Amino acid sequence: MTNPGSPARLTTALTQRPRRYQSPGLVIRGHRFAWGVRTYLMGIINATPDSFSGDGVGGDVAAAVAQARRMEADGADWLDIGGESSRPGAGELDPAEEARRVLPVLEAVRAATGLPLSIDTYHASVARQAMAAGADAINDIWGLRHDPAMASVVAETGAALIAMHNQRGRPPVNDVVSGIGAGFRETLRIARAHGIAEDRIILDPGFGFGWTPEENLEMIRRLGDLWAGGFPYPLLAGVSRKSTIGHILGGAPVDQRLEGTAAAVAFSVAAGADIVRVHDVATMARVVRTADAFAGRGNFRAIEAVIALGSNLGDREANLRAAVAALAQNGVTVTRKSSIWETAPVPADQPPFLNAVVAAETRHAPSDLLRILKEIEYDLGRRPERRWGPRPIDLDILFYGDARVETPGLTIPHVSILERSFVLAPLAEVLSGALPVLGVTASEALARTGSEGLRRHAAL
Ligand code: ADP
Ligand code: MG
Repeated sequence: MTNPGSPARLTTALTQRPRRYQSPGLVIRGHRFAWGVRTYLMGIINATPDSFSGDGVGGDVAAAVAQARRMEADGADWLDIGGESSRPGAGELDPAEEARRVLPVLEAVRAATGLPLSIDTYHASVARQAMAAGADAINDIWGLRHDPAMASVVAETGAALIAMHNQRGRPPVNDVVSGIGAGFRETLRIARAHGIAEDRIILDPGFGFGWTPEENLEMIRRLGDLWAGGFPYPLLAGVSRKSTIGHILGGAPVDQRLEGTAAAVAFSVAAGADIVRVHDVATMARVVRTADAFAGRGNFRAIEAVIALGSNLGDREANLRAAVAALAQNGVTVTRKSSIWETAPVPADQPPFLNAVVAAETRHAPSDLLRILKEIEYDLGRRPERRWGPRPIDLDILFYGDARVETPGLTIPHVSILERSFVLAPLAEVLSGALPVLGVTASEALARTGSEGLRRHAAL
């Protein structure tokens, strides 16, 4: 073995792709996790009053829902909801109290998002109730080894399992990777004995759980060794805002660890993490996308967004075409275009509109895409006008993949698509099948609204 700190180590990790995983991927609620293709982002929702990270929402259901929606808009692939603080020194919470705290939050978040949800608990009773309330996965910081009933809950409910190695209270080891490996072997033995599906297991080496700062760093540096050394499972790295980062930065408090977390996340990606669990989703989504590109994960995420365009001021056709050109310059690659339709204005006391719809590939998170659309509107001369008044250009996000987004400034799918014939007619030319989330086809919806006042005007 070479020195674990040598650069050769990282080279090993970086050149290991494509790796052979225990399973090629996992599909939850229609979301595909294709291991090795890119790094997935898990957003943390703390239904705790005493979270170490300082962002706990306690039992405030509305705050948790707002946080979940914000995270989905910012690019989270998965949300993890916990009711007990795992910070060092926090006591064990009574499972009944934990359930009272976390279940209302989980139910509300479940209703608000189609993202996969995990329950962060090591209590089987809480996990079982959470699965009944719509969780998809169980995130156990004791890797099935704390509560003897946990493995049966995972097996019986068909939950995906995130099993963490926890070094707290275990005898010291000379080698971090073998210490984690010993824990993983115990966890996997229990999982197999209970018939938990292999392809639903994700392993977490447990950054910050019973290790010195130096050992934590070595753990991440040697993720590739862990993977190659008998654990070809997807690996989750939970480095966000942890005290090792504070330690490196000379005692930086938890609210001053953003850049340190960004570096730690980028390094985790380079070292081979498949999922990173983070608090600051918007920032880390950009970090992960960049780090993935550097790590040579070629096929990182492009999502199909569907955008509606409208204009009823100035040279309307030129405005629509300029908007399409501007999209291409802003990382939004148009793949299909509808015709341009002339449509009666709503409300009626203004010039008629030209409307169109385009499908586009983009790697921007929904909130970033909205910001770009507003910048393009501004560049094309749009200034604040009365609500639904005449405008040189209006750009709306109709769909973003199959995501549902509901933040104060952004709703996806766009509201009232199904009632607006001027959206449906061009939309039907771009999406012929069932519309994402809404389920009906644009033509079916158009048959209901009628096509009065619509006229095909030109090609876009
Ligand atoms: P409208 O498009 O309804 O005619 P605006 O273009 O002025 O009016 O949009 C009003 C606000 O709607 C925007 O500032 C934006 O924050 C918000 N909004 C909510 N959801 C969307 C969406 N899917 N696409 C575009 N804007 C949206
Ligand atoms: Mg708009």
